[in-house]
Amino acid sequence: MIINGIGVSRGITQGWIHVLKRGDTTIAKRTLEPEEIESEVERLNEALEEARKQLREVRDMVPENMRQEVTSFLDAHLLMLDDAMLVDTPTEIIRNQHYNAEWALQDTMEQLVAVFESMEDAYLRTRKNDVQHVIRKVQENLTLTDSGGGGVQERDLTGRIVVADDLTPADTVLIQHQNVAAFVTQFGSSMSHTAILARSLQIPAVVGLHDAGMLLEDGELVLVDGHGGTILCAEDANWLVDQYREHQRVEQEREEKLMALRDKPTITRDKESVTLKCNIDLIEEIPRVHEVQAEGVGLYRTEFFYLDRPEGASADEQYEVYRDLVLALDGKPLTIRTLDLGADKEFDPDYEGAIAPNPALGLRAIRRSLQNKPVFLAQLRAILRASAHGPVHVMLPMLTNNSELMQSLALIRDCMKELEDEGVPYDPELKIGGMIEVPAAAISAGVFARHLDFLSIGTNDLIQYTLAIDRVDDQVHYLFDPLHPAVLFLIHHTIRAGREAGKPVGMCGEMASNPRLTRLLVGLGLREFSMHPGSLLEIKQIINHASSKELQKQCQEILACTQPERIRDMVEALAKT
Ligand code: PEP
Ligand code: MG
Repeated sequence: MIINGIGVSRGITQGWIHVLKRGDTTIAKRTLEPEEIESEVERLNEALEEARKQLREVRDMVPENMRQEVTSFLDAHLLMLDDAMLVDTPTEIIRNQHYNAEWALQDTMEQLVAVFESMEDAYLRTRKNDVQHVIRKVQENLTLTDSGGGGVQERDLTGRIVVADDLTPADTVLIQHQNVAAFVTQFGSSMSHTAILARSLQIPAVVGLHDAGMLLEDGELVLVDGHGGTILCAEDANWLVDQYREHQRVEQEREEKLMALRDKPTITRDKESVTLKCNIDLIEEIPRVHEVQAEGVGLYRTEFFYLDRPEGASADEQYEVYRDLVLALDGKPLTIRTLDLGADKEFDPDYEGAIAPNPALGLRAIRRSLQNKPVFLAQLRAILRASAHGPVHVMLPMLTNNSELMQSLALIRDCMKELEDEGVPYDPELKIGGMIEVPAAAISAGVFARHLDFLSIGTNDLIQYTLAIDRVDDQVHYLFDPLHPAVLFLIHHTIRAGREAGKPVGMCGEMASNPRLTRLLVGLGLREFSMHPGSLLEIKQIINHASSKELQKQCQEILACTQPERIRDMVEALAKT
């Protein structure tokens, strides 16, 4: 049996299923006798203290090298456990309404969730999940203490694949400490805290596997592919596992061969230099950037970092992370894209934008930043301060019109002036670029190129908006066509506009990492590619075997063609030459 979920953390591993059972989740409501009241308060306090102790124990288990990244999740939960609201409210409910501790906590949780839900700030609203996690832990302790449990569970999960409805950040750290081989959850997306932590902690993981608990049984032997999001039930299909492993072996061999190319320059046969950079979401990915000897980071998606911060990431905190990235890159440029929240990057299902009629056409990316200036300015300030430590480029997502560009440039200038007045160092030469992701921006690329230092084509969105295909909707996925003549026209037009204005144009959408399209893109004039580190050396190999002049000629024919089938055939033929 093969089951598919969302692969969120790379790695292939075989192991036995361990279904993580939660305590009874139904919370009983019981009225206390007057003489029971004080002992119930005592019971609550013990469960709270137990939860604090558990979290502190888990925090001590975090490996030294990822302490700051991971412990911030746990510290936020610890702070909540000391919050008067969380301690006093249930105590008052026990004393005044005479309800049992579990119910008092349930009532408190509902009150707190309502408070969080009514908050203006979208990021603060997302914190309600943390409140739920923390209170459920205390409720679990109350149940476990009754049945003689409690404390951080001592388990050995070596060789085990944990299957759970969902995992909290603390659970994730805990199971890593218990040597879990991989985990599979029913809920969650690739941008959930848990998925981000799985990548940081290097645990292969698949999330969003509906009915995981029903499909996978305790003790069953399975193979988990954390990249592809596949679970193979292995016991009755050993041949399939063997085939899978063989495929892996061939892949590994190929990768080892490609590694020989790392210190070679990226240059076509006719001596056209091409720049290859990486896209990253986390600081943990920097060693891979060095490993493949990329020329820098062409896209650092800051929303991943931002979503992890319980208090919405202060300017100081962002500065520290950006500075650490700059230093870790050791002189290679870091392109920091300002927040691109909204649409598919909305991780809070309660955010109003998510239920807007057309979220992808709504308040996302630069539009949202310009509507929420304090958040935007805090980020710009942090980016500018980080530029004092090494080469930093700032990149604006989803620009559509000149007014957004002008407003953004004015805010960057304001920020620079503020830092100057305060005597805070920054790089006045810092490069400012914009993403070309909207057809209107591609058509007017010349205007953007004139005012910016560089452009970067975000093909994931450019295709979505050009073809009116929701990039996350499976039903129309077959129409998501990078080779549509309109898409090729816009890419070519943008590259040409950049060239005419004397400004570099890169590409950081997924098209840049597709080896079947590399020769086409070189032929269209692209000279800077940014992609996941795993694809970089293969792309380099293709470029080093190509002649840009020949490709340019062949691409003229492709650009002139209007028949999709013919374009497909020509691109395929080009890839094979
Ligand atoms: C893109 O749209 O191509 C892009 C790189 O940005 P993201 O995928 O983060 O929207
Ligand atoms: Mg985009």
